[in-house]
Amino acid sequence: MTESSSDKLIEALRKAVSRTSMLAEGNDPELDSVVRQIRQVITKGADAQEIQDVLNNAEPLLIKSDEAQSSRAKQVRSTLQELIDLLEKQDSKRVPQNEKKELEAQIRLHWQTPSKWPHLLKGFLSLAEKTLTQIESSQPKSSLFRRFFNRDLETKSQKNDQEIMIQISHTLAGLMNNLSLPSHYDEDIVDLKKALLGNDNLQQLPGLLDEAINLIMIAIGKTQESLTNYLNQLNKQLASINESISSSYHSQKSLSVSREGFNNKLQKQVTDTSQAVQSANDLESLKTLINNRLSTISSTMTEYKTQMVEQEKHANQSISLLKNKVTRMEKDTVSLRSLLQEKLAQAMTDSLTDLPNRTAYQDAILPLCKIMQKTQKPICLAVCDIDHFKKVNDTWGHLAGDKVLRLVPKQIRSALLKEDLMFRYGGEEFVIAFPDTTLVQAIERAEAIRLAVAKTPFNMQGEPVSISISIGIAELHAQENPESLFARADKQLYMAKEAGRNRVMANK
Ligand code: GH3
Ligand code: MG
Ligand code: MG
Repeated sequence: MTESSSDKLIEALRKAVSRTSMLAEGNDPELDSVVRQIRQVITKGADAQEIQDVLNNAEPLLIKSDEAQSSRAKQVRSTLQELIDLLEKQDSKRVPQNEKKELEAQIRLHWQTPSKWPHLLKGFLSLAEKTLTQIESSQPKSSLFRRFFNRDLETKSQKNDQEIMIQISHTLAGLMNNLSLPSHYDEDIVDLKKALLGNDNLQQLPGLLDEAINLIMIAIGKTQESLTNYLNQLNKQLASINESISSSYHSQKSLSVSREGFNNKLQKQVTDTSQAVQSANDLESLKTLINNRLSTISSTMTEYKTQMVEQEKHANQSISLLKNKVTRMEKDTVSLRSLLQEKLAQAMTDSLTDLPNRTAYQDAILPLCKIMQKTQKPICLAVCDIDHFKKVNDTWGHLAGDKVLRLVPKQIRSALLKEDLMFRYGGEEFVIAFPDTTLVQAIERAEAIRLAVAKTPFNMQGEPVSISISIGIAELHAQENPESLFARADKQLYMAKEAGRNRVMANK
């Protein structure tokens, strides 16, 4: 009977040891809230700097959490001491003193290290086992542990046992204080504490212990889940920061040197973090590790930002220099263009008569002929030449010749339509294009020109002098080019001269 009772107690203690080892990983509500806050920042896609800020803000909470941790450590130490004391308070005082002293030394050394708590609790378990074994073999007296689940209550030791039971319950209730559970477990904790504090029945202890352990499991489960999510999110976030930097690196190769350096650094940090997270085995060191990583990443980013700002400054300077250059060039271009246009107009105009010159004729005639051919409209060309002009120069002088050259086109103009185009082709030769005009109409118009010139008396040094012109005309054929048209008109001019001058000759 005592064997199985002891087994149950030892089993309960074993459970407590293994589950307390999880509790020792650092479970508290403040940390939970920090983790939650950080996870929110990460989930909404903040950058490493923002995460770092949240961690900085969370620092007071972490410090508070450390304080909670240290008060929990104190509680663990006193709980262990109380358990040892309880072991000694039982009827037979056969607790092996060497082992007890060894355990107490261990407690003094390691009570502040959560990862050692399970070891210390195991130490207590083995001390309890040794004590029980001694009692089994040499001391058949009733003991706390042997009578733990025993209805055989001896009056003499009953009072003593009840006191011990109350103390155990108080000790366990105290341990319950530091559990971090969602608020809907509050009632469960209150109920359990009440049950523990009101309990003086040894037999109820294993059940209450199990309930306590279940609550501890829930608390630990929550923290670990939070932590796992947090770390996963964090790594994803770091990877995505890395990816976005790397894609912007690809799109802007001009800044490749610093970007590549940054990219490699960040990639390495992410890889290192992944590896370290896998090998870290408790919450405290993970927390420190993640904090350190974020600091490194944050300062890398700051360094990178500074570089970028510097480069951007340079780029802006070059851009504004370039802009000024472009503005200057645009201004230059505008004035150059108007200068060119002026020059071009000059080059196209005859300065003596102000008429478009031969160059202008050559520019204009091809497109004009083409559009007439395309629209199947007639066009005629007249080549006019002043008769015996040499004589004018010879008789009245070159200046008088120039005057004639200025006045003849005015007479010609008087007989033209506004669509007709006149050019000074050279010397005393003028060319007229008659768009949308048949040969018959052109001959008529040329006749009017010839008459207008012929009937005008030119005043030469007070004397009226008659001037005449000869005109050769041709109509553009389909498929004909302007050179051929001119040649045919010029041939008619030659024929008009041959025929006696002051006349119009035409070629169909
Ligand atoms: P034709 O009736 O056969 O045309 O005889 P023409 O004298 O008019 O022809 P020719 O080609 O023998 O002489 C043309 C003259 O025109 C020669 C040249 O000195 C003169 N001339 C050419 N350009 C100018 C100019 O700009 N001003 C003056 N004053 N004379 C010019
Ligand atoms: Mg001539
Ligand atoms: Mg002439």
